[in-house]
Order: sequence, then structure tokens, then C-alpha cells
Amino acid sequence: MPKDLYKILGVSKNATEQEIKSAYRKLALKYHPDKHKGDKDAETNFKEINQAYEVLSDKKKRQQYDTFGAYGGSGGGGGGFSGGANGFTGRGGFEGFDFSGFNNGASDFADIFETFFGGAGGKRRGGKKNGPMRGNDIEANIKISFNEAVFGCQKELEIIKSDVCQHCNGGGAEPGSSIVSCGSCRGSGEIRSVQNTILGQITTSHVCNECGGTGKVSEKKCSVCHGTTRVRTKEHVKVKIPAGVDNGSTIRVSEKGEGGIKGGHSGDLYIILTVEQSKKFIRDSYDIHTEIEIPLVQAVLGGEADVTTIHGVEKIKIPAGTEDGKVFKLSGKGVPKLNNDGTGDHLLKVRIKIPQKLSKRERELFEELAKESGLDTKKKGWF
Ligand SMILES: [Zn+2]
Ligand SMILES: [Zn+2]
Repeated sequence: MPKDLYKILGVSKNATEQEIKSAYRKLALKYHPDKHKGDKDAETNFKEINQAYEVLSDKKKRQQYDTFGAYGGSGGGGGGFSGGANGFTGRGGFEGFDFSGFNNGASDFADIFETFFGGAGGKRRGGKKNGPMRGNDIEANIKISFNEAVFGCQKELEIIKSDVCQHCNGGGAEPGSSIVSCGSCRGSGEIRSVQNTILGQITTSHVCNECGGTGKVSEKKCSVCHGTTRVRTKEHVKVKIPAGVDNGSTIRVSEKGEGGIKGGHSGDLYIILTVEQSKKFIRDSYDIHTEIEIPLVQAVLGGEADVTTIHGVEKIKIPAGTEDGKVFKLSGKGVPKLNNDGTGDHLLKVRIKIPQKLSKRERELFEELAKESGLDTKKKGWF
């Protein structure tokens, strides 16, 4: 039966990320193989701790574990799975979980699964402790114009990121130099310090910074990254921004983040968009709003008007008797939706222009109209 990952780390089910991290650190140090050479139990403990941490320190994996009692990844895996691996059946937490997706593709499911069940039916892979690790995700912000957001565009970005040092291949050692016992900790992986206090001597210990707790260092540090294993690199990334994105939209560019460690996949690049506003159009999601001013006579008698939409100029019919504030909908004349899911609308609000200055002839006509409507406009002194 699989062990409870929370129990392995000695934390509660609702432990915070920080609690999980610090529990992991403590235990990893306690059971570090360098301190228990040849001790199989310690080795097993150490593996379990790392595996538990791998799941619980990852939000997605942890959630999946909480829900299903195992971390399943998103499809892929295989090996050791089919035919009901040992310890697998009868575990209530798995009911209703869809395994169909695990038979093709590749993910770390098999690894994790193997871990839970002590490798039952699965192929063992080399120690995970120093295995590949995915690189960090990075974020970039870019500003695009209103039109670029509406119709899509191509952009080229210069990304400055931390990547694996090519010179030492991420090992931190100068190629060709030998591995020696760490001088700072004398190969123990930890630094002890003794303090004399009035209560007597107090001994404290912490992980050796020089060797990261492994007790081993290379004789000569990499001349490029100075042993840090990482270098800052510049990369030009071309991105296609789809039509329909909006202010705050995020685009994920897969594997353009920081380089992975020891052959692990690179992280992803997330591009956050800032979209400039238009002087002509107001955008509300996929709809465009504008106003049009029409003469009073046209509102009364009807006619035609030209409307500028984001797709060009459109002629529309103004029906006779159009009231101020009336909204006309130009279907499909808005912003193209993401994933080719149709197009928004253009909503046009009518504003009626009341003439401020009348020619002599116009005044006569209006007065005639007033007379026709039974209004007495000759009464002076109202204004
Ligand atoms: Zn290097
Ligand atoms: Zn050391």
C-alpha cells in the first residue's frame, strides 16, 4: 500500500508550502545517504522523502494527490500500469480516476507511481535525487497596439534569463578537473559550529554552502560560471500573438523559460500583454462601441450613414423616427474571438444633433413646422 505523503514528511494535510519545504529540508538532511553509507533503511527513507516532496511541493501534483490519492500527471506513462499493478486495486482513492490516458505519451507518472509502490511492476530508473529538474518559468511584459491585439501580430522579444552553463554542462566543474572531498566541511556535507555560552557549549550545524551538502566538490570550478552552474543568456524569441487578445492576456511559450537542470526540460515563458487603447473605438471584450451623431432631420426622416468599424467603413440605414440613444448592432463587425470562435459585434449609439444656428430659410421651415404642430413660437420673452 502506498504511504501517506503527508505522513512521510510529518506535516498535516493543510500544511503551507513553507511548512512542507522546511519539513523536507530537515528530513532530507537527516537521512542524507552521505551520512548513512550502506544503510538501506536510511536510503529508502531518503527516497521517500524526496518523492513525497516532489509531489507536495508542486501545486498541481499536490491537488491531484489530494483528490485521487496519487499524482497522475496529464496523460502518458505506461509501463507497470496495465493489468493492475500490485497494491493498486482496492485503493478507494483511485475509483473513478480515468487511466485511459496513461497508455500513451510520456510523463513522470510511471516514476511517481513506481515510487509509491516500491517499483512494483515498473522499471527502476536511476536515483532521482540528482535527476533532471525542470527549469523555472519566466515572465515578460510587452505592449502592443489596439490593432495588433484585435487582429493578431508577430513579435520578437529579447529575453534575458538564467540558463545552464554550457561550458560545464551544468555541473559547475571545469571540464577535466577531478572531484575531491569538500574542504569546507571535510566531506561531511555540513558545517558544525561550537559556541561557548554561560550554559556551556552549544553545537549547531547547517548544510555546507560550498558543496550543497554533498560533501564533494570539483577540484577546479568552471571558468565560465564560477561553479554556479548557471549563466545569464540572451535569447530572441519570436511569438505569434493571436487575434482577439486583450489587455492582461497571457501567452505561454512552451520551453522558452530557464533551462532545466541535468537534462530536464526548460521552463515556460509567459508573456503578459498590455494593450494600448484606441482613440476611435471602445473595446468591451469582443464588442466594439462607438457613437454616431446624426442631424435632427435625418433622425426624423431616416436615411443612410457611414460608420467606421475596425474592419472598415460600413453603410447603415437610419430608419425614420430614430430616437436619441438608440443602439444599432452591426453583427460580426467586432473583434475576432480567440480560437476562431466567431467575431464580436459593433454597437453603435445614435446621438441626435440639434441645430444651434439656423439660416433664415431653415428658421422659416421650422416655424412652419411649429405652426403645423400647433405650437406658438412667436411668443417672445421666454428666453
Ligand atoms: Zn559552468
Ligand atoms: Zn562541503
